[in-house]
Amino acid sequence: MNQKKNIAVFCASSPLVPRKYFDAATKASSALINAGYGIIYGGGSNGLMGAVADEALKHNAPVTGVIPRFMVEVEWQHKKVDDMVLVDTMHQRKELMVKNSSGILALPGGIGTLEELFEVLSLKKLGQYPHPVIILNTDGYFDGLTQLFHKMTDESFMRPIHQEMWSMVQSPDEIVPALKNSKPWGKDAISFAAL
Ligand code: AMP
Repeated sequence: MNQKKNIAVFCASSPLVPRKYFDAATKASSALINAGYGIIYGGGSNGLMGAVADEALKHNAPVTGVIPRFMVEVEWQHKKVDDMVLVDTMHQRKELMVKNSSGILALPGGIGTLEELFEVLSLKKLGQYPHPVIILNTDGYFDGLTQLFHKMTDESFMRPIHQEMWSMVQSPDEIVPALKNSKPWGKDAISFAAL
């Protein structure tokens, strides 16, 4: 595990997504590296996960993969990432990534990405994760999610203050400023978690 301030990156494993998502993922990785962050991610070689890791490797920047052994058995791990931590379960993987992060970046992704993002947001809502959560809305990918978040507050499924748990940014160069400007979010969040 590298000793830098790590940002955990959640993103698509699919290699079939349009090029624009790969380009944004590469730029996002580069923005984190240039700002001096290390990257911790799910350890895969495919899709946006691979793009994020490849960019870090290209610049000799610290990148840590965390991957369950059952994925290694089918050779899903990125073979060039030396700092690869093997775990037994998906739960352990997520826990380790989150525990060793100083912030979360969610890029466009599928079910796995959303599950990872939502676990962190639900922890944050209960005051169990204090760090920034940034969502990169490449080409409006998360517009539908924004709509759902608004419905959640409009119909009191969560409070308006909970919208402050994440920053939705539109381009990779907004990621680092959003990480730096993120509002403090402490354990006292539990006090307003219950409606
Ligand atoms: P998704 O957003 O559904 O593509 O899921 C991304 C997440 O799913 C990753 O962080 C992993 O938890 C898992 N995952 C699915 N397929 C792969 C793969 N080929 N290599 C590595 N992780 C994968």
